[in-house]
Amino acid sequence: MVGRCLQRIADATGVSFQFKGTFTGLPGKDSSIIEIAWAFDDEFKNWERDNGKLSSSSAESGSIGWGGPEAAFIDGSLTITGGMVLLNAEMEGSPHTDIATLHELTMLHELCHALNLGHVDDKREVMYPSVVEGLPIQLGNGDRTGLFTLTS
Ligand SMILES: [Zn+2]
Repeated sequence: MVGRCLQRIADATGVSFQFKGTFTGLPGKDSSIIEIAWAFDDEFKNWERDNGKLSSSSAESGSIGWGGPEAAFIDGSLTITGGMVLLNAEMEGSPHTDIATLHELTMLHELCHALNLGHVDDKREVMYPSVVEGLPIQLGNGDRTGLFTLTS
């Protein structure tokens, strides 16, 4: 599932990803790679809080995922060096979005955040901030344009 999501992004951007291995625990250990992990609800909330990732909406209702880039100043310019994706293993599907679809949509959304793509208002895009009924697991035109612009 992670591989399929990365392939969708690779297809949209021409960027290639390299598998660097596995790790245990939560993201935040290596800012030179994209770290992808799952956590149970309590761990997830604690990680959000301890790492300053808690937003007002996630504090209220809980999040199903978090994603964002890691950046550093390299030769004087702020450069994205890696990213973090954390999925809440206790997210629950709904009548209109089964759990497998929800996992994959959330992974794709958070990976796009890890590449520094932000939210949009268009419900046909993966980067809409909440899960939309019937959304196919694919990048929308705006998602593709945004990713292509960020990575080219
Ligand atoms: Zn988001």
